[in-house]
Amino acid sequence: MITTTIFPGRYVQGAGAMQSLAQEIARLAPKALAIIDRSVETLVADHLKDTDAVSFVIERFSGECCDVEIDRLVAVARAQACGVVVGIGGGKSADTAKASAHALGVPVVIVPTLASTDAPCSALAVIYTSHGAFARYLVLPHNPDVVLVDTALIARAPVRFLVSGMGDALSTWFEAEDCRIKQAANMTGRVGSMTAYGLARLCYDTLIAYGPAAREACEAAVVTPALEHIVEANTLLSGLGFESGGLSGAHAIHNGLTILEETHRFWHGEKVAIGTQALLLLTDRPPSVIAEAYDFCEAIGLPITLEQIGLGAVTDERLLAVAEAACVPGDTMHNVPGEVTAERVFAALKAADAAGRARLERRPISPRLAA
Ligand SMILES: [Zn+2]
Repeated sequence: MITTTIFPGRYVQGAGAMQSLAQEIARLAPKALAIIDRSVETLVADHLKDTDAVSFVIERFSGECCDVEIDRLVAVARAQACGVVVGIGGGKSADTAKASAHALGVPVVIVPTLASTDAPCSALAVIYTSHGAFARYLVLPHNPDVVLVDTALIARAPVRFLVSGMGDALSTWFEAEDCRIKQAANMTGRVGSMTAYGLARLCYDTLIAYGPAAREACEAAVVTPALEHIVEANTLLSGLGFESGGLSGAHAIHNGLTILEETHRFWHGEKVAIGTQALLLLTDRPPSVIAEAYDFCEAIGLPITLEQIGLGAVTDERLLAVAEAACVPGDTMHNVPGEVTAERVFAALKAADAAGRARLERRPISPRLAA
């Protein structure tokens, strides 16, 4: 059996890492197209000033990683003869930078200012329609040349981003484990390595150990060792774990959920958390494992019911349509071991929602309050 594992070229993380950005870019090319999320423009402006070694062409990101936006940015980079693309902001700006650099045939530097997804490190861009529905995966020939994460910026972002990133990272080990058992292909089309499965497990263990403390640090807008651990888990470990370990049902359910308009205002990791809970029931994980995952979600504030992702009034008919969308040929639901049908996915979603609602109803008589 031939296994394949892929990595970003460099991973730079820490409070103040932005001070190294120009130096990292200059190693690749003297002129950079910087694609920047509006929300971080003022935070990063000081680090995008021309130096002797590198100059910047700055473009605001439109907000959606779609073909129209990629074509627009490619045209700008061509006209300005940029030799490297830098994506600064959230997951969608990262994916847009990767897709644009690929079309141009130039290196890419990703600067996540949020730890809200595991997109930054991967050789993958998720392309959406201009209306925000999942369109397709764009598999790239290599991972980003540099991923640079300034944890001081992450700590200043609203806590919901960090929590959503933990939702995305929560799926990593479970989905990699499904792929390992089934010997299913990872994102390279080959089977994953021991290294990838090991990193996926480290991702999970890090979440369980440091998730609540990292949330508290982010609420206080400070960088602590726990926050550093979770940023690394959300960004690097989850990225390596999903990409070289493989995806299964949690992300397929996420993709299914995006067919319902009401879920569009909820974030990738929040829907992946719901997908993960349903996957655990679908695959008959041990009750202790399921309880640990729900406890974690509750402790850090991830959704555990359909109502919490906008689907409080969803009909069975529409939820079955979600399950059918999660099972379409070519999606990663087919990496789940055992028999999987849309009916079973539907049942898992209903059961996961019922389990979450039961927990919320029990909250007022938790042992701490009763004591
Ligand atoms: Zn994800």
